[in-house]
Amino acid sequence: NVSDGSFSSEESLKELGQLADTAGLTVAGSTYQKLATPNPRTYIGSGKVAEIKTAINALDVETVIFDDELSAGQLRNLEKAFGGKVRVCDRTALILDIFNQRAATHEAALQVALAQMEYQLPRLTKMWTHLERQSGGQVKGMGEKQIEVDKRILRTQIGVLKKELDSVRQHRKQYRTRRLSVPVPVVSLVGYTNAGKSSLLNHLTGANVLAEDQLFATLDPTTRRVQMKNGKEFLLTDTVGFIQKLPTTLVAAFRATLEEISESSLLVHVVDISHPLAQQQIDAVDKVLSELDVSSIPKLIVWNKVDKVSDPDNLKIEAEAREDVICVSALSGDGLQDFCDAVQSKLKDSMVWVEALIP
Ligand code: GDP
Repeated sequence: NVSDGSFSSEESLKELGQLADTAGLTVAGSTYQKLATPNPRTYIGSGKVAEIKTAINALDVETVIFDDELSAGQLRNLEKAFGGKVRVCDRTALILDIFNQRAATHEAALQVALAQMEYQLPRLTKMWTHLERQSGGQVKGMGEKQIEVDKRILRTQIGVLKKELDSVRQHRKQYRTRRLSVPVPVVSLVGYTNAGKSSLLNHLTGANVLAEDQLFATLDPTTRRVQMKNGKEFLLTDTVGFIQKLPTTLVAAFRATLEEISESSLLVHVVDISHPLAQQQIDAVDKVLSELDVSSIPKLIVWNKVDKVSDPDNLKIEAEAREDVICVSALSGDGLQDFCDAVQSKLKDSMVWVEALIP
């Protein structure tokens, strides 16, 4: 694992373990190595390779997952070095797997398929080198030709997918335009994965959006109508969770979905304030947000899971001292009325909708 400075190697590996768990795997153990530069052939050094190989045999391991993106050559060399018995993959492939398992709408499925193909394209080499080995080198170049054919097929498929995605998006845009003609403001929930966005949406609307203690329970934006006690309404949208080292192919594939955030009247950044890495998670989310054009949209910060912290009263005092921070528990419902009040006052600041709706 290469630490990017905000998450330590241990922390990033722990999260990788949770991702593996989410994908349905059982974690047998983890290890890391500090190197000045990664080994170009095997990413890790030969001593570490040997150590892992021993563990593979002792623990009957089936898959070895690396926390950083590996090249086709590194994947191949590592599988060989581990004795050819295990599958070697990286964080990106694991996240793509999870997204693949969870895509619930046609659009999300298309987005994930696109990201997977773009991930495979530079890694195709792996599948064909065996042809050359089997022929004892006689058909040298055969593998290469086959790779070219495969790449062309994959590129064609990518083109087809992109077209299909375009048409699905066009369709949704029309729907959105129709929706926007009704003056109900849209509030978007953003946050690190597992912060409690789905739970908040559920509690406020009674909608049964999957809330699970797993990374990436939510893939598709879900929109629900929230009616406040005074009769006023807003639309609340749940978005895909963010995570550190989110694969760039995925960010690209989901960009259109994320860009819808930029059309909302208010952003609600949900934070799991009970998490030991809350600040790092906030930074990771802000980093993705800064890449989208959303700086002009008003923002409200929600410190969720206050029921889980040791000193909730102190936390509430701290929140009050800050601007735009509300403490809630999506689980117990604590603070949700304050949240609705804060949303309303924020929307009032930024829009004329309240007056327009209520004469
Ligand atoms: P999302 O990934 O941001 O949509 O997060 P979820 O809504 O799926 O929540 C992740 C996990 O945190 C689930 O197990 C929830 O039950 C739990 N959770 C959410 N809100 C709270 C809360 O306020 N308190 C506690 N203790 N757990 C919560």
